[in-house]
Amino acid sequence: MIPPHGGKLVDRTAPEAEQAELLREVAGLPQVELNEREAADLEMLACGAMSPLEGFMTEADYRAVVDTMHLVKGLAWSIPVALSAKTEQHEALKPGCRVTLVAKSNGALAIMAVEDVYRVDHAQEAQSVLRTTDEAHPGVQYLRSLRPTYLGGPITLLRKPNHRDFTRYRLQPKETRVLFSAKGWERVAAFQTRNPIHRAHEYLQKCALELADGLLVHPLVGETKSDDTPAAVRMQCYEVLLENYYPKDRVVLSVFPAAMRYAGPREAIFHALLRKNYGCTHFIVGRDHAGVGSYYGTYDAHHIFAEFAPEEIGITPLFFDHAFFCRKCGSMASTKTCPHPREDHVFLSGTKVREMLAAGELPPPEFTRPEVAQILIESMRKAG
Ligand SMILES: [Zn+2]
Repeated sequence: MIPPHGGKLVDRTAPEAEQAELLREVAGLPQVELNEREAADLEMLACGAMSPLEGFMTEADYRAVVDTMHLVKGLAWSIPVALSAKTEQHEALKPGCRVTLVAKSNGALAIMAVEDVYRVDHAQEAQSVLRTTDEAHPGVQYLRSLRPTYLGGPITLLRKPNHRDFTRYRLQPKETRVLFSAKGWERVAAFQTRNPIHRAHEYLQKCALELADGLLVHPLVGETKSDDTPAAVRMQCYEVLLENYYPKDRVVLSVFPAAMRYAGPREAIFHALLRKNYGCTHFIVGRDHAGVGSYYGTYDAHHIFAEFAPEEIGITPLFFDHAFFCRKCGSMASTKTCPHPREDHVFLSGTKVREMLAAGELPPPEFTRPEVAQILIESMRKAG
């Protein structure tokens, strides 16, 4: 089994013996309310999905990550995992104090031992991590909505957030690791997605599956921008696709609680490292991974891996070009495997596909499986 990032799977859940005392302590502590992204990060910190992190970043780690894509101790890490102060009182907190982390719908979830309270420059963070300060970028908008003070320190989770959705698909890293090992899978390819799976994505997954023992379809279900397809609809699409077109004993569907950062290349590294913690050995990186608009070059998320030694990342990236159905080849193909001109390819733009679905029309089956298209048409009808 592939070791977690940093060698040890972190578990920041309060031991049962200490829970009663911690719950008593919570009542007397200052509270910090988590936004949606922070609540998702907390959940992933607690279960080891973000190993070796044990809490929200202190200033030293934050700066090292923003400036060098490494933690202070030298491990590769590309994305800040930060907790923002919500009030002036939070900004005045002193290292050494303890705070309760509270989620809107869930109440008190965790205690953080505050090690650091520090000022940040959001424009600088945006420029380094997102490669832009353009206010139209959803990641820039997020940063601008925060106070410029972060709190860092290790967390202890008191209880799991109460999820009402996808409850049978919420496997934690220690659970996927047990599952893969029980299945005898040595090579497991992970597929990150925040979109419905069209034939092109299915092709990448199946190419990976030809080489690996198993496939983890790992859709992101944390916060996404409002015009992305809702997670519940996407899950229906994955279910129907897996049911009809994938070998049941070689695929696991489970959700990835993270929020989207739309950080393109840096987020591809982040997504890969976290999937290593879930026990995957390979990670599929398509075109414009975690991108938005035209902020990143089509293959920037491939190139960024070259900035690290392979052993720094540990999980092996599988890079894929643009895939399509080619009428001349009579099969799915990509620019790497098909010599024919674009006219021979079944290609539809995202806009065109949305128009067709909105009009209740099925895209060609070479582009989208009809079962998937039907679910998307239905959901658009309901959304009106
Ligand atoms: Zn061809």
